[in-house]
Amino acid sequence: MDRPSLWTHSAEEPPLLPEAEAPAEGAVDVAIIGGGYTGLATALFAAQAGLSVHVIEAAAIGAGGSGRNVGLINAGLWVPPDDLLQTLGPQVGPRFLDLFGRGPQTVFDLIEQHQIRCEPRRMGTIHAAHAPRGLRDLQARHAAWRRLGAPVGLLDREETAALTGTTLFHGGLLDRRAGKINPMGYARGLARAARGAGARITTATPVTALRRDGAGWRVETGRGTITAPQVVLATNAYGGDLWPALARAVTIIHFFQVATAPLGEASADILPQGQGLWDTAPVMTSLTRDGAGRVILGSMGRMIGTPQTGVSARWARRRFRRLFPEKPVPDFTEGWHGRIAMTQDHMPRICQLDRGLWAPMGYNGRGITTGTLFGRALAEMLAGAPQSSLPLPVSPLGRRAAPGLQARAFDLAFTLNQIAPIP
Ligand SMILES: Cc1cc2nc3c(=O)[nH]c(=O)nc-3n(C[C@H](O)[C@H](O)[C@H](O)COP(=O)(O)OP(=O)(O)OC[C@H]3O[C@@H](n4cnc5c(N)ncnc54)[C@H](O)[C@@H]3O)c2cc1C
Repeated sequence: MDRPSLWTHSAEEPPLLPEAEAPAEGAVDVAIIGGGYTGLATALFAAQAGLSVHVIEAAAIGAGGSGRNVGLINAGLWVPPDDLLQTLGPQVGPRFLDLFGRGPQTVFDLIEQHQIRCEPRRMGTIHAAHAPRGLRDLQARHAAWRRLGAPVGLLDREETAALTGTTLFHGGLLDRRAGKINPMGYARGLARAARGAGARITTATPVTALRRDGAGWRVETGRGTITAPQVVLATNAYGGDLWPALARAVTIIHFFQVATAPLGEASADILPQGQGLWDTAPVMTSLTRDGAGRVILGSMGRMIGTPQTGVSARWARRRFRRLFPEKPVPDFTEGWHGRIAMTQDHMPRICQLDRGLWAPMGYNGRGITTGTLFGRALAEMLAGAPQSSLPLPVSPLGRRAAPGLQARAFDLAFTLNQIAPIP
């Protein structure tokens, strides 16, 4: 199993108590495989709509991307808004952009409603220009969002330096709709809310097979079988070979993060207003500071070696020195990585794999809002709303050419990037 993330122990929300968990058996309206944002949001809203629901998680709540990510709650998708409108067309595009533009608000409302202890900070996020060409990309994104009336602002070099604490960036895009959270805290809080709404949850129980059973499905585990007419396969980048076609539809890449111990006042001038940041470089860097004053640096690729002396730790020290040349380089004490499911066009999908078998997937590194919104929409559909009310038309699974080969090529490129001198 991958090394656990910092969030596993820094989240204020505790893990679910084993004695509160349901046995892995019985019949329900909806069986959900995977205890991340998608599965848990589906469970919460389906249970609230009166459906009986059972979430089965192979490891712990948030063991996948939901407990490992950077914690940036962004509006929209990775794909710029103009491209999204073009891809989705005049029927779906504006509705989708409106929903995803309000995505952070939806997440912050849920956090408030269920009193989820996940250090929510709604100060915006900063997309920082690593080079003049990055700034041109941000200018185009800014113009597109402004045409849609979104509260985004273009920062010049000095303004970016004031908000980040580094003079390295050429400018930035501040999106005031956005913010950040402790990602594991949000996942565990959703699980608590879903259970409070009546959903059953079983962790530490991998689903070993998914079989048709008359009009419905048998969800088999080593500890019993659950039957349901509807199943949501919410395993995303962590599905393994449970449904092999799902794994062939995406390319899996890794993203690692390395964190310092709490630095107190010594880190107070890094992102002093509490925003999170990622940059425009093709191999992106992320930078955040948590509530305890830990500085957390991330980039694409696997966590290699120990957080103290390994390849990723050395990358983090070089990166820190480049960002904050006047500061002493701190020790990094924790490191971890997670998997991201990439699609060819960087668009997420809601797939129907068979009758009554749904798979939202391929979030391309934008999963906090996407998992929450897709989960809610699927729950509403399973409770009777028309399929046309989903944020995206249901799509066939598709298949990437040689996804395994692509994943290995990315892995190699990202490893070389960790070793190469930092420009
Ligand atoms: C390092 C990193 C940084 C990221 N940063 C951001 C960010 O800043 N902002 C953002 O919005 N998004 C970010 N993302 C993306 C986001 O984390 C994911 O898109 C999101 O968490 C996906 O949620 P999910 O519920 O669909 O899947 P996951 O959270 O991955 O959950 C899938 C679950 O399925 C379980 N599972 C798998 N197989 C089985 C089985 N056979 N039986 C039972 N359970 C099974 C797994 O154990 C796992 O818990 C990042 C991702 C990573 C990895």
